[in-house]
Amino acid sequence: MKDDDVLAFIRERGEILQKDLWKEMGIDSRKCSKILKRLEERGMVEREKTTVDGVVTFRITAIRKPELNHLPPCFGCPESYCEPAECEKLDVWVWTVGIKMSGED
Ligand code: SF4
Repeated sequence: MKDDDVLAFIRERGEILQKDLWKEMGIDSRKCSKILKRLEERGMVEREKTTVDGVVTFRITAIRKPELNHLPPCFGCPESYCEPAECEKLDVWVWTVGIKMSGED
């Protein structure tokens, strides 16, 4: 299971509890937690601690539209190695800048 598969699932839902996410995706809870931590570090999701029926979990929300920053996300990026063609942050930035420049937004 790739991080982007999990991200696509979260985006489809908009918001989901972490305790439901790993069950619905059929992945190990620890692996799910690591994937979500990476997605949070990439700025693709927000995790908010919450308690549901006495169980502590996280409410996961997809970040759909980042603030337009004229600098690409590579500035200050914490990744030590990357594949720009596979980078979701860079992809979102390119599309956001493209939409702003075309005046569609
Ligand atoms: S392409 Fe993505 S992962 Fe690589 S430096 Fe830029 S923002 Fe970071």
